[in-house]
Amino acid sequence: MKSQDLKSFQSLAKGVGTFYARNKTFLIPQMNRVGGHLIAGAFRGFGIHAQVMETYKGMDLGREYTSGKECFPCQITTGDILYFMRKEQERLGRAFNVDDYIYFMPESDGPCRFGMYNKYQRIVLDSFPELRGLKIGSLTTTNGYSLSGMIEENRIGDFRKAAYFAVIVADILDRLLWRIRPYEKEAGMTDAFIEQSTHVMADIFEAYGPKKEFDKILDRLDDMIQEAKSIINPGISPKPLIGVVGEIYLRSHVHANQDLIRVLERFGAEVVNASIAEWMNYISYDRLRDAKIGFRLNLKQGRLGEMWRHIKDTLSIGGELLYQQARQKQAYKRARSLIDLAGDHKVGLLEDILNEEDMFSFDAGTEACLSIAGIVEYAREGYNGVVNVYPFTCMPSTTTSAIARPLTNKLRVPYLDTPYDGSFQTGREAAIRTFMYQAHQHFRRNGRKRHT
Ligand code: SF4
Repeated sequence: MKSQDLKSFQSLAKGVGTFYARNKTFLIPQMNRVGGHLIAGAFRGFGIHAQVMETYKGMDLGREYTSGKECFPCQITTGDILYFMRKEQERLGRAFNVDDYIYFMPESDGPCRFGMYNKYQRIVLDSFPELRGLKIGSLTTTNGYSLSGMIEENRIGDFRKAAYFAVIVADILDRLLWRIRPYEKEAGMTDAFIEQSTHVMADIFEAYGPKKEFDKILDRLDDMIQEAKSIINPGISPKPLIGVVGEIYLRSHVHANQDLIRVLERFGAEVVNASIAEWMNYISYDRLRDAKIGFRLNLKQGRLGEMWRHIKDTLSIGGELLYQQARQKQAYKRARSLIDLAGDHKVGLLEDILNEEDMFSFDAGTEACLSIAGIVEYAREGYNGVVNVYPFTCMPSTTTSAIARPLTNKLRVPYLDTPYDGSFQTGREAAIRTFMYQAHQHFRRNGRKRHT
């Protein structure tokens, strides 16, 4: 592949958006492995040929076609798509047709740069003549990641429900991994089990997702949990519990964060990472919040038409959020009746925590809302330490870091910042080891939280 100078920016409007995905190969970037595969399985159930791309193999390309000023996840995903396309061209030769693919890159509004990844990547793709036709399928937080236009309108509701349920089940499988691996009978057993379960569960979503047979999916999840419990060595004592917050991509992508959870485990931790569903619920919660604020403002100004619009939004988004929380509760209740897994934070509770301490506001938005409140919640729940994971220069996470330091001093819980940019820092391991020493001390003095 050879890049050329770009002559026009028109394709930013034409080549980024929501596209009908049937009969296309829908390329999903791998952020957290389990989640990517389960969502792909759910998509396949609706007739979309979804495929999870390999990740981190194209880092050289990612670095070559970025300037170094972009966020680290942008570099990684740019490398992933260029690497995938290069491999497809090699595999298919003259049969390669760029129109057969849609590359999935959602976006968010607000003050940080996630809204720019797909625009930037459009420019990079357009600099390769053979990749100009590659559509970037984008969903946006402004309409709650609406899937409208991707498949037939009458199936969108079910499609959305199945995709959301895939996110929840993936979160539970990830929690199962972190719960069991520190106590496994033999090194590698948990990783092998979760890898195998991921593919089985992706097929289950393909089969049952479209019919919304969620109970059948949970039945299979029950079987997996029971099997996973046999991996635990009951002779290993409970370990200090560490909570992870931070930027969603970095904390979920094991290559990008240099397998931080495993490193913490190596120094004696049991870890719980913030979930992916937390972000999905936050998007709905924030839209609901905006609709309520809009209603109050228009009520003061007596604008009836706008008031009515905001009432309708409040009802529809509120219903969506209630549905999500009910599904999440149902799945966690089943799983936690079988094993003591960590539950998930409710977004409303996180906002209450911020208001109570008056340390940040949901009005400012971004993941900082979730991370700052999440740190307080971990500390209150009795975790023995908290780690904030993020891309170097990430704006919301740097904000979190500035607020978290004095806060965790006050809460008397060990805290560690771990920014990543793809380079290897010589002092990193020493910092993690020192943090874990503090967490062990905290554990000895205070004991630890039980998940039940
Ligand atoms: S959250 Fe951080 S890493 Fe992600 S786009 Fe925003 S600034 Fe960049």
